[in-house]
Amino acid sequence: MTGKLAVVLLSGGLDSTTVAAMARAEGWRILALTIDYNQRHRIELDHAVRVANALAVERHIVLPLDLTGFGGSALTADIDVPKAKAGAPVGPGIPVTYVPARNTIFLSVALGWAEAAGARDLFIGVNALDFSGYPDCRPEFIAAFEAMANTATKAGVEGAAFRVHTPLMTMDKAGIIAAAQAVGAPLHLTWSCYDPSPQGRPCGQCDSCRLRAKGFAEAGVADPAQSPST
Ligand code: ZN
Repeated sequence: MTGKLAVVLLSGGLDSTTVAAMARAEGWRILALTIDYNQRHRIELDHAVRVANALAVERHIVLPLDLTGFGGSALTADIDVPKAKAGAPVGPGIPVTYVPARNTIFLSVALGWAEAAGARDLFIGVNALDFSGYPDCRPEFIAAFEAMANTATKAGVEGAAFRVHTPLMTMDKAGIIAAAQAVGAPLHLTWSCYDPSPQGRPCGQCDSCRLRAKGFAEAGVADPAQSPST
């Protein structure tokens, strides 16, 4: 148990919820940060609130930072989210659901809160294996961001090194689900779909839905968020 403060980026999805639960299990006091970037799947913001409550975080901020003014992504502009049949593999290449510089923007905001709050640790649920090909999910990016953070901040130049924790970096989706279960992450409260129906149901066909389904299938676990009882 560290009892120290850490800022955890919490989207309300499976990966960030698992990371937050892992941090809690390690004894971190969690400052949960959710960015309301006016994403197409705004429903995930409600899920983030429920996850933050379930994990009894120290504080949760949902920060409005509308990225639709920039557009450039299927998640922030009027561009269709690519779909494929349920079970079809997620293809190579950087998809149109990539949001320009999103993790750089999010981590920078998290860094600002961390420095203000006296925290030196950031957690983010990036993953270099079962991911959608986003360049800002790779270890090289995280190392570069850490170096930048320690150059850019008063705390950094005064010797208190910032660290970006990426406990999911080398896990596949099935491994993430197993890790989530080991720490009692509230996966039943999570949301993954990029393009929910007007009734608020997951589409089952976007990259995020298919990666989620693949993970639960490979972990041999039923998805608790999809069960009729929830
Ligand atoms: Zn979907």
